[in-house]
Amino acid sequence: KVVCVTGASGFIASWIVKLLLQRGYTVRATLRDPGNPKKVDHLLKLEGAKERLQIFKADLLEEGSFDSAIDGCDGVFHTASPVMVRALINDPQTELLDPAVKGTLNVLQSCSKSPSVKRVVLTSSISAVLYADRPLTPDAVVDETWFSVADNCRKLERWYSLSKTLAEDEAWKFANKNGIDMVSILPAMVAGPLLQPEVNESVEPILSLINGEPFPNNVFGWVNVKDVAIAHIQAYEIPTATGRYLIVERVVHLSELAGILRDLYPTLQIKDECEDDKPFVPTFQVSKEKAKSLGIEFTPLEVTLKETVECFREKNIL
Ligand code: NDP
Repeated sequence: KVVCVTGASGFIASWIVKLLLQRGYTVRATLRDPGNPKKVDHLLKLEGAKERLQIFKADLLEEGSFDSAIDGCDGVFHTASPVMVRALINDPQTELLDPAVKGTLNVLQSCSKSPSVKRVVLTSSISAVLYADRPLTPDAVVDETWFSVADNCRKLERWYSLSKTLAEDEAWKFANKNGIDMVSILPAMVAGPLLQPEVNESVEPILSLINGEPFPNNVFGWVNVKDVAIAHIQAYEIPTATGRYLIVERVVHLSELAGILRDLYPTLQIKDECEDDKPFVPTFQVSKEKAKSLGIEFTPLEVTLKETVECFREKNIL
């Protein structure tokens, strides 16, 4: 079968491409800059790439840009979206919201034009869930029925979360209106081995801790990149898969994450010191019930962190 992966150079998408090739698929990978070896070389080296990987150039903001890559595909994995959480954002509209929202609609438009497309798997995020009008307390069990409220993201100036919330919301509206079979995957912070050469945003907090910086007073859910990639593929392959799927192994305060890293690597100078002296932000729980129905067996956070650090060492990032 032929499938398309948008934003194929990225951290999560590279793993999706790798596992799809392993499963025998022909993969059409869209990149906005296929001429850049840093974006494409790691994909071309994957097992099966010579025979079954096809590279397409496509940009989220160019209308019709995805038509040729998507036409004739059985499935589409739409992962491309700007990931800027910690980076300095000057203009949220042009840097984040337009590519996320217009880009998603652009991709779905191409899907609706191609009768071969049987299912679309959209990479959304836990950010499209957490800013619902419901308190995040240690007793709260967040599940797929929660949907972030755009105004809550705006008030908090969480532009990335706003981009993911609006993109998923618009995607559901478009899919329902146009009869597209869509499933969305909602990962928390993704870590684990990087296939691409550049460090992506979601592993940066781990790198900062290893570099001896104090931990921010914050709570994140974490999940292994391989589990996230498997979730995407299962969501495509399992006919009964439907709706949204949170993909989160464990939610921890960064103090706990620092503690796990210290236990794993006693020789690294990981600080037991918070960036501020306010009370710790409370943790919350995330339901794994729907994820389990995709057959996901979550990699424990300890293993994910170990794989991340080993990868930093292999790539001489440490
Ligand atoms: P990466 O930054 O590694 O990948 C993002 C991809 O989107 C890149 O391939 C990037 O292309 C592409 N992209 C960005 N802007 C454009 C544009 N204007 N036109 C075409 N392509 C564009 O991040 P991740 O792999 O982490 O993220 C992939 C998806 O997963 C995103 O949708 C993200 O929101 C979501 N996600 C990520 C989480 C995480 O913790 N990492 C958690 C939850 C969801 P280029 O390489 O050229 O910049």
